[in-house]
Amino acid sequence: MPGVDASITTAVVFDRGGLDALIAALKAKGFHVVGPRVADDAVVYADLDAASDLPAGWGDEQEGGRYRLTRRKDGALFGYTSGVQGWKRHLYPPRQKLFAARRDGQGFAILPPDPPAAPLALIGVRACELAAIAKQAKVFGDRDFADPGYQGRLASAFVVAVECGEAGGTCFCAAMGTGPAVETGFDIKMVEVIDKARHVFVATAGSAAGAKVLDGLKAPAAAEADKAAAAARVAKAAKQAKTLDAKAAARLKEHPDHARWDDVARRCMTCGNCTMVCPTCFCTTVEDTTDLKGEHAERWRNWDSCFTIDFSYIHGGAIRTEVKSRYRQWITHKLSTWHDQFGSSGCVGCGRCITWCPVGIDITAEATAITEGARKAAAGGSKKAATSGGKGR
Ligand code: SF4
Ligand code: SF4
Repeated sequence: MPGVDASITTAVVFDRGGLDALIAALKAKGFHVVGPRVADDAVVYADLDAASDLPAGWGDEQEGGRYRLTRRKDGALFGYTSGVQGWKRHLYPPRQKLFAARRDGQGFAILPPDPPAAPLALIGVRACELAAIAKQAKVFGDRDFADPGYQGRLASAFVVAVECGEAGGTCFCAAMGTGPAVETGFDIKMVEVIDKARHVFVATAGSAAGAKVLDGLKAPAAAEADKAAAAARVAKAAKQAKTLDAKAAARLKEHPDHARWDDVARRCMTCGNCTMVCPTCFCTTVEDTTDLKGEHAERWRNWDSCFTIDFSYIHGGAIRTEVKSRYRQWITHKLSTWHDQFGSSGCVGCGRCITWCPVGIDITAEATAITEGARKAAAGGSKKAATSGGKGR
């Protein structure tokens, strides 16, 4: 994942034709280009051939349990908030063959792995999504059991980030410190600037590879007015209605018996949508298959969810049979014990789990209700103790 090289940060400006040239240049370099486009009444991250595939003039409305595409009058190409799923499904595919084997005498011979796919160019990556990619890179890269597939796909990827110009209804990246400004992890970052006179992209390189591609576009340097307009767009996106006290949420693990777990269990359907759309969730299960003759066998890794009973099955039964224990496991890991495991929160504030929860359960509301409730109870307790003469002192 590229960092930012201060020597190559001269901003340039280009129009939609320049964006088309950028996509064409990446294709010419052999990248498999993926970016936002409209499919099934939503913005999804899928194959892109040209800038004409981008969701021109589409925005979205997102709130708890609700997503709608909307028409924009300004023709923005990146005017939506975020795709249904993040880039996880491209860097960490939902279903992946781990190996295949063929019968060989009395044993099996492991077959050579499939040839690696073309490197990915990711167009339109948001700041919170870059943070999610960095979190998954830590999960799959920094520990004893690294995932070479993930590492390889990420190392060879070319990242074109696009900073947000407005926040969606379920965004809280500002509270989580992951956005909306893009700071690191990109080859090129862009801001889309639209006013009465122009529709342009103000772009900066973040790596030598990004600088080379931008050079090839022969785009003029951005004027101070372009840079100021870009900065104003990002500042607007930092105004977010939703928030979370991330520090308090990190202490969620201290409240395993809070009454709110029963309350949320009455609403949660354990559908697992929140885990499927979350860009940092990484749980999987492994499945072995054979042909009918027993000549050929394959091992596959599939995404799984901690919301299924089977996920916690060990010898003798499942550990988390109650809905409340599964919801508690998910949110406590995400906001609290992730710190113990990986040194940060596991949530980047993208809001997808809120939007795509069919009953609108809101991670910020649940965490706040539990940690605030516990804080008030503790404050009430000490006040009572103080007014009653300081029992126990
Ligand atoms: S927990 Fe929800 S808001 Fe946080 S990163 Fe996952 S989907 Fe986004
Ligand atoms: S919190 Fe919502 S999205 Fe997640 S499992 Fe429960 S009902 Fe499904």
